[in-house]
Amino acid sequence: MTGIGKGSGPDVVFAAKLAEGVFEIQKCGGCGAHVFHPRVICPACGSADLGWVAPSGRGTVHARTIVRRKPDKGGDYNVVLVDLEEGVRMMSRVDGIDNDRLAAGLKVTAFVGKGAGGEPAVVFRPQGGAR
Ligand SMILES: [Zn+2]
Repeated sequence: MTGIGKGSGPDVVFAAKLAEGVFEIQKCGGCGAHVFHPRVICPACGSADLGWVAPSGRGTVHARTIVRRKPDKGGDYNVVLVDLEEGVRMMSRVDGIDNDRLAAGLKVTAFVGKGAGGEPAVVFRPQGGAR
């Protein structure tokens, strides 16, 4: 777990928003770059003027891995890298599609679901619904 014991750092703010069902990323007031993972300083220009904004939620699968797991452990699951329209890359999971059909280039939409440990997490589904 990240963020534990870090006070009100940006990781904690991000997790607290997720716990309320809100997915937001940071945007730099200095250069306008979107920032993820949550940071204190903009990696593009060094400004500390980072605010929170709601992204479009739309993205494209950049890469995917299928993690094999026994059925009694919950079965196979996927791990993806998604490029959001805002230009940031996230590690996540895509629900609502067969792992065999999940491929780079798939257009996806973010929602707040549950991570592998049941914690609130940003998860994706195919744009246009399950297929
Ligand atoms: Zn910046």
